[in-house]
Amino acid sequence: MIDITPRSRHPATGKSVLLYSGGLDSVLFDHLLAPDILLHVPSGARYEPAERDRLARLIDTGGVDPQRLTVLDDVLDLARFERPDGVVPNRNAFLLLFSSIYGETLYLGAVVGDGNLDKDDAFFARMTDLLDHMWQATDWNEARRFEIRSPFRDRTKAGLVRDYLGRGFDPAHLLTSYSCHNGSEPACGVCGPCARKRVALAVNGVAIPDGYFAAEFWEDAEWRGGAAKFLDIPGEGDDFRAFLADVGAPALDSWT
Ligand SMILES: [Zn+2]
Repeated sequence: MIDITPRSRHPATGKSVLLYSGGLDSVLFDHLLAPDILLHVPSGARYEPAERDRLARLIDTGGVDPQRLTVLDDVLDLARFERPDGVVPNRNAFLLLFSSIYGETLYLGAVVGDGNLDKDDAFFARMTDLLDHMWQATDWNEARRFEIRSPFRDRTKAGLVRDYLGRGFDPAHLLTSYSCHNGSEPACGVCGPCARKRVALAVNGVAIPDGYFAAEFWEDAEWRGGAAKFLDIPGEGDDFRAFLADVGAPALDSWT
């Protein structure tokens, strides 16, 4: 626990912090980056109960180290700002402000295809500048200098799964992770995170248990209508095409 009291100066911690949701990317980034602290910040999202349940299972099965996990309960409620499409404005800025309390190297998970303006280079540069400014030496803290990193932004999910498996980590932890935006159990299978997770696992030969996803995304008319945004992701689009060909999805050309 970091001591924030009027009598002590807030020190530079020298720690690295990964914002950790318990989703597929979180499990991958944790194993590949080995940060000092995993910071889980529940913020009232509709998928949170399912996410929390899976996080408990990850702890029980050794998929996450509870000694490095910090859960910030009851400090952030963004539910009232969540749009119907699941977007929460400013979300990553809020999360990075919290993570800056715990360390100076801040990891914000992103892979190729994650195009939000609160995950891009300009955002990282400005947020770093803001944190450096706010954490100059004062009578209540020592000077701290920050680095916001997202080292896998040019990598595909499937590529990271390949790295993870290649280093001998357990594929079961990837299945225990929870990424569905609908918060259903089992995961819906059709939302963007579900489809991307399925493809990333399948092209690496990770067997998906029967019933793991509630539906097949390629059979969903709405998903097919928006398929182009997945097929256009550099590298990952090729993974989608390979996967769709493998499952015998019909009329791929007519989707784009
Ligand atoms: Zn889903």
